[in-house]
Amino acid sequence: MLLSKAFKKKFIIPDFEKFTHQIDNMYDRALKHETGQVADYIPQLAKFSPDLWGVSLCTIDGQRHSVGDTKIPICLQSCVKPLEYAIAVHELGSEHVHRYVGKEPSGLKFNQLSLNDEDKPHNPMVNAGAIVISSLIKLLLNVMLLQVMDFLKSMAGTEYVGFSNATFQSERETGDRNYAIGYYLKEKKCFPDNADMIAALDFYFQLCSIEVTCESGSVMAATLANGGICPITGDRVLSAESIRNTLSLMHSCGMYDLSGQFAFHVGLPAKSGVSGAVLLVVPNVMGVMCWSPPLDRTGNSVRGIHFCQELVSHFNFHHYDNLRHFAKKYDPRRQSNDDPVSNSHTKSFNHSTFERDYDSRTPLHVAAAEGHMDAVLFLTEICKVNPHMKDRWGNTPVDDAMQFGHDVVVSVLQKYEEKYCDSEAQSHAEEQKAMLDTLKSAA
Ligand code: GLU
Repeated sequence: MLLSKAFKKKFIIPDFEKFTHQIDNMYDRALKHETGQVADYIPQLAKFSPDLWGVSLCTIDGQRHSVGDTKIPICLQSCVKPLEYAIAVHELGSEHVHRYVGKEPSGLKFNQLSLNDEDKPHNPMVNAGAIVISSLIKLLLNVMLLQVMDFLKSMAGTEYVGFSNATFQSERETGDRNYAIGYYLKEKKCFPDNADMIAALDFYFQLCSIEVTCESGSVMAATLANGGICPITGDRVLSAESIRNTLSLMHSCGMYDLSGQFAFHVGLPAKSGVSGAVLLVVPNVMGVMCWSPPLDRTGNSVRGIHFCQELVSHFNFHHYDNLRHFAKKYDPRRQSNDDPVSNSHTKSFNHSTFERDYDSRTPLHVAAAEGHMDAVLFLTEICKVNPHMKDRWGNTPVDDAMQFGHDVVVSVLQKYEEKYCDSEAQSHAEEQKAMLDTLKSAA
């Protein structure tokens, strides 16, 4: 699949080199942020240096890029919550799972002893919800840790998925709050019948102690981005329903007490964990795992948050970015009418190069509005497109370049308009002369 896409140049991010160069710049800028505290409630987390910082990404075509400390095993901690929820919905269906857990952000701390009006945990991304989901997986599906690890491995394209027994033991020893939540859930009859609350808690601690690397985690995130099909193996791992639910809840509840702000500013589904990992999904484009241990006051990785913010301030990946008219951001995605194979031959220009979209906008309008000088020069000097085409608002490409302040593009287009008028007049005169000559010789 990868090779055939490579030959046809049909990747979702066609200019991957340029894209990853920008990712590396964002990585470098985030590296400079040196605030935050490494979690120290268990020695297995406290041992990590605050300087560690890694970012891996995997696109839905399986293109990969990693920078920094991306091969070190790290515990998923709360990043496992969306994954275990996805498994539960995949196996049991949404309706069944949501008999036990809500879908609403709690507005409270992730480890609060609190239930919603129906005496259910608020959502699967807080501890109470994840503990109940753990019991559903263990009891109703009769699934053990190794089977969950196998499942996650298939999400990760068979890459690294491990387990830290030391973390599991420490979580168990220091987990008083989680035991309190467990007893509260038991009192309120939140578990399925016959569930063993202590076994559910043990299973929850085990799931938090599953290890990945940034690299394998990014493939898991890419499986979420790719509708449940692992981009590396091509296998369908999760149902479309489970993916949609999981991304929705990550979007609204995934980033602890920063979830609302993150949804507002970054506008992408993500989940972070106390280990400093952030699992980020750009639906239909790519999955990312960032990791850096120092956490901010909300419990999110300082560098991870900084990176996510930079990503959407540069690329139009925010869920509500207007892909068509937001000229200030760069869209690295393959455009739907991109046909790079035929575009590389001038003789095929008549199709995509002169086509207009439903707003009657031509490629020259888009290139001018976004200030892409290379594209403007290509369309004018090589394709010799008509610069006078008006879109449905009556704007020509030069109007767009003016509106968005691309002064150099404006002057290039103005010169081209003049040249185009002259050459049009000249070819008109030539046509007339040829017609007269034909008439004369006929006479
Ligand atoms: N083991 C942690 C707990 O349940 C997970 C914390 C987290 O990553 O948010 O308290």
